[in-house]
Amino acid sequence: MSHVRSDQQLYIGGSWVAGDGAAIATINPATEDVIHEVKSASEQQVNDAVAAARQALSAPEWANLLPVERAKILFTIADLIEQNAEELAQLETLDQGQPISVARGVSVAGAAQHFRYFGGFVTKIQGTTNPVSFPNTLHYTRREPVGVNALITPWNFPLMILAWKLAPALATGNTVVIKPSEVTPLTSIRLVELCEQAGVPAGVVNIVTGGGDVGAMLSSHSDIDHLSYTGSTATGKVITHAAADSNLKRLTLELGGKAPSIITATADIDQAVAGNVGGALLNSGQVCAAYTRFYVDAQRHDEFVDKLAKAVTSLNVGAGAEETTQFTPLVSEKHLNSVAQFIDIGRSEAELVTGGGRIDRPGYFLEPTIFSGVSDEATLAKEELFGPVLSIMAYDGQDELDEVIKRANASEYGLAASVWTKDIAESQRIANGLRSGAVFVNMLPIPDMAAPWGGYKQSGWGREMGPQALDCYTETKAVWLHYGS
Ligand code: NAD
Repeated sequence: MSHVRSDQQLYIGGSWVAGDGAAIATINPATEDVIHEVKSASEQQVNDAVAAARQALSAPEWANLLPVERAKILFTIADLIEQNAEELAQLETLDQGQPISVARGVSVAGAAQHFRYFGGFVTKIQGTTNPVSFPNTLHYTRREPVGVNALITPWNFPLMILAWKLAPALATGNTVVIKPSEVTPLTSIRLVELCEQAGVPAGVVNIVTGGGDVGAMLSSHSDIDHLSYTGSTATGKVITHAAADSNLKRLTLELGGKAPSIITATADIDQAVAGNVGGALLNSGQVCAAYTRFYVDAQRHDEFVDKLAKAVTSLNVGAGAEETTQFTPLVSEKHLNSVAQFIDIGRSEAELVTGGGRIDRPGYFLEPTIFSGVSDEATLAKEELFGPVLSIMAYDGQDELDEVIKRANASEYGLAASVWTKDIAESQRIANGLRSGAVFVNMLPIPDMAAPWGGYKQSGWGREMGPQALDCYTETKAVWLHYGS
């Protein structure tokens, strides 16, 4: 059994305490069993966590650490994640439902890599000297921590997405208050324990549990300098209003997606089918960058749809903890019902090729579902379903490349996109034309700590990962030093 803290799940100012608010059950999506009741933070506890983070920001144990010392803490967190890798992976699968191979190879391995990557930056965060046109003046910039940060995360990759935020925040000398999703809080709590074990000083990392109400206390708090949020676009807009109405805190927003995947006439269809099954159904489609809208050259359409349907129906369905499982349940009953409703709408909009129903076993299992003949105006083509639903559209040939780029761009989202082709010139034309934060050519939508991640349009503001992530967690101060008369 994975390690789960019994009742004191909030970490405030270096002490573990029980939440004073209501208990929320976290459930194993593969069995529908309650794993644990996690108590929510009260408003007073949220305020205490923010105050602890504020105090720790200038405390000598943190503020005066030499870069090499702060780097060492991040490297130690990476080491501890790896030393506890199997336990963390089992816990993520238990709480979130993802296949254990994904929990090991993506969630846990990715989290460790992020701490090591950003640990490396600590000794390399540089300012500039600038040739100002003012006599006898030295002008230079300093990169300073932005201050107290709220980190609010979703339920689809809880551990890894927290690492995307926490590693650059700590690398740049900030302090944080974490609010994990109420649906999947367990690995975030465990990561905070590992931070404590790694020697992160009291108050630097705090965690408060609870639902959207606790998140709202953070977004409207006037003593938080920056809030990094990953979740739905709808909630991102609520947070933006709250941030503006309180203290105009800075925001990094990683929001929804509706990634197009363009399969051209020259594509290797077997490769495209394998890659798009992976791209669409990783974590049962509960991936912000999941491929969901397929624009297939009319010449290859039928072959693609036939092979895709065969591939999705041959996946091993099961609990994530079983080693051979490829396709797992959705995270919760609420989410299952939401995706099922979209499928019902889809039945009246397009042709159901395969799937569409609940899988008859305990757990929140939904069949991988393919619709063809989907129109650009359909709900299926517009809404982020965040589940195992693939919508296929045909387009007419080479002459229509500009047109298909236009159709792929006709979305309020712009997080990720994909193109499948053997023609390099065509791949460049499409990649350059797509308005999205990442374009994947002949491959799955994978994140990597060295590659900036974020959205155009309503998919968000700012970039995580890569050197760009440091911008979210630093202020640039310009210093002017006049040395002459
Ligand atoms: P969600 O918006 O329901 O919740 C995300 C987090 O926000 C949770 O911790 C929740 O408690 C909190 N929250 C809810 N209401 C709040 C409020 N009013 N104020 C402050 N916090 C509040 O999202 P979800 O259902 O957990 O996650 C799925 C969504 O996340 C999808 O839209 C997906 O595309 C998106 N996502 C985006 C990325 C990315 O990198 N762009 C990555 C993963 C997931």
